[in-house]
Amino acid sequence: MDTVAQPVDVIVIGAGFAGLVAARELGAAGYRVLVLEARDRVGGRTWTERRLGHELELGGTWVHWVQPHTWAEMTRYQREIVRSPAAEEMYWLGAGGERRQGSVADFMTLIDEGQQLVVDDVRTVMPRGTDPLGGPIAELDDLSLQDRFDSLALDEESRHANESVWVGHVNARLDQVGLSSALRWVAATGGHWQLMHEASSTYRVVGGMSAWTSAIAEDVRGDIRLNTGVVSVTQEEDEVVVTTATGEHIRARRLISTLPINAVSGIEWEPALPEAWLRANSDTVASQGTKVWIKVRGHVPRFAAYGTQHHPISVLKSEYRGTDTDTDTDTDGTVHTILVGFGPDHTQLDVTNVGEVQRAVDAVRPGLQVLEVTAHDWMKDPLSRTTWMTHRPGALTRDLAELQQPAGLVHFATTDNADLWGGFIDGAIESGLREAHRVKAALSSDG
Ligand SMILES: Cc1cc2nc3c(=O)[nH]c(=O)nc-3n(C[C@H](O)[C@H](O)[C@H](O)COP(=O)(O)OP(=O)(O)OC[C@H]3O[C@@H](n4cnc5c(N)ncnc54)[C@H](O)[C@@H]3O)c2cc1C
Repeated sequence: MDTVAQPVDVIVIGAGFAGLVAARELGAAGYRVLVLEARDRVGGRTWTERRLGHELELGGTWVHWVQPHTWAEMTRYQREIVRSPAAEEMYWLGAGGERRQGSVADFMTLIDEGQQLVVDDVRTVMPRGTDPLGGPIAELDDLSLQDRFDSLALDEESRHANESVWVGHVNARLDQVGLSSALRWVAATGGHWQLMHEASSTYRVVGGMSAWTSAIAEDVRGDIRLNTGVVSVTQEEDEVVVTTATGEHIRARRLISTLPINAVSGIEWEPALPEAWLRANSDTVASQGTKVWIKVRGHVPRFAAYGTQHHPISVLKSEYRGTDTDTDTDTDGTVHTILVGFGPDHTQLDVTNVGEVQRAVDAVRPGLQVLEVTAHDWMKDPLSRTTWMTHRPGALTRDLAELQQPAGLVHFATTDNADLWGGFIDGAIESGLREAHRVKAALSSDG
């Protein structure tokens, strides 16, 4: 095999949080690092773009100080947070689909019992968020989140509201998601569901995710090659040979893959990936949902609306308007509000179709006129094929430990195999730090 580029110590595939952090650590330790990223930008599943007249986060958005790896990086890069607007009005559905409207306190009272019951045994089955397999979670890992809801005697109104709240968290149909996915994030907040809710959807990063990941990229002592998709990875006796889409072969002593579980089949692996990766990739992770940004006419009071888990948009919130930016007027002088919506199934909603999105909005928050919509369909994107990872029933205990293990000279760092906040930015950083440490240890023992 002809080798075109100079060999390096470590190739990192992917310049999302996991890849950037791993590369930074290895470069700082003096190793020759090369990051190969198929996209024309860094950041992976975080991506800030100006759309609808605002800087919008098309992927990961909210962070919190209870996410320790995230917060260490926030401090390191001197990032600030700003609160997403607190709702002034809440909308939800009563029995038989009757519309309800009330205060945040009303809604919290409605969901309190259900939210608590869903995660009531978290302290027993998963006592430490940092060790999701450390307790007897296997006893109930075969249950879906839906199984748990089905076992609770919630009335229709409370059930719709509670289930929709969980669609907002897991971005999936609840019968597809393991109960353990819900429990592990509540375990990460010491068993307190209210804190988990706050952590996952309240504080945005000032300046946007892309500015933050660019700052990390600037700290990487090594090349980051954009527009460089990897098509194959071959392990030889003491080297890994990577082939890019342009046919270039690059050799390295170790490799870190940061590909999401659903995207690993985009590379030909020789030898084949370990069983757990093949299994998880073929099953796919449970999250198959939608995040869509929606511009509606007028300045709408700050609100949050919840439908049922079967609606194309189960959760809808107002995010920008009025004094949020100085660009909140269209050229014809029309004021508008920007909403963000989440749904369980990307096939249920064409996020490019204003009429379809209008119908989905009407179902949960009537009386708004949709002007424009925008989104990135992460499910159709071959470099992700997923939004944020949640396990299918049984998959956490079946696969997680194995997914964390290196296979020969190949290591795996991705939020999908993190311990604490798997699926979140925090998990990506955790996994990047973990694998950088392991690779350093392996290279130093190689001599
Ligand atoms: C819509 C959405 C909303 C989210 N909301 C939040 C949130 O509010 N808070 C939060 O903490 N998290 C959120 N997340 C999750 C968070 O964004 C991810 O967990 C995190 O960014 C994943 O980082 P990663 O490095 O593990 O993976 P990725 O960011 O997916 O990085 C993998 C990289 O590998 C590259 N790649 C893939 N295949 C190849 C190839 N063959 N060759 C070269 N490069 C390749 C990809 O282009 C990508 O850049 C959200 C995600 C989405 C999609």
